[in-house]
Amino acid sequence: MRILVVEDDAAIANAVCEALKHSGHTVDHLADGRQAITALREHSFALVVLDLGLPGAEGDEILRKLRADADPVPVLVITAREELDQRVRALDLGADDYLVKPFALAEFEARVRALLRRRASQGVPTLRIGNLSVDLAGRRAMADGVPLELTAREFGLLEALLLRRGRVTSREQLIETLCKWDETLSDNGLDIAVYRLRRKLDNSGVQLRTVRGLGYLLEEADDPQQP
Ligand code: CA
Repeated sequence: MRILVVEDDAAIANAVCEALKHSGHTVDHLADGRQAITALREHSFALVVLDLGLPGAEGDEILRKLRADADPVPVLVITAREELDQRVRALDLGADDYLVKPFALAEFEARVRALLRRRASQGVPTLRIGNLSVDLAGRRAMADGVPLELTAREFGLLEALLLRRGRVTSREQLIETLCKWDETLSDNGLDIAVYRLRRKLDNSGVQLRTVRGLGYLLEEADDPQQP
């Protein structure tokens, strides 16, 4: 899942981002509130981790704008103890949960899992195609009931193609989805991920097809028994 962390304290941001990456998520980090508002308008995230005291724009302003745009993305507010008033206001403005700093990373991870699960039960289902079933919230894919060993990048690629099944997804769209801002995914990197995912989808009844000059398409494999 792609998660946005908005936090201007470098040490906390670093710890939180590392924990999320370790859980297999794609993480974008911003320290500035204005940039966060722009990012939330331009990209889609599975979860936002939001500090309240921020340069540029305060966390509650970001929340207000999010909900005014009817963006249902779950928001986990992380706040200092002295920001009690802000915390209450954040919940009133539509934050889904909050943690008071300093917090244990284990608790942070548990809150993140809970919010992603809740989001999953609200309409991010297990998707099926061919013999493949993909649990988007749990980050698991199974072919005929056997778990596929996918890296975070390969899972992200599968997710992006699956959410647009039946339609061609361009290389640019895939790179945009799979990249973090602080890191570029080279053409070569994308080729490698496509190659590996394709190999892992052997025998899943699903094929990752290259549409020359346009991009990629995920579709049910042709049945070899059929003419
Ligand atoms: Ca802060």
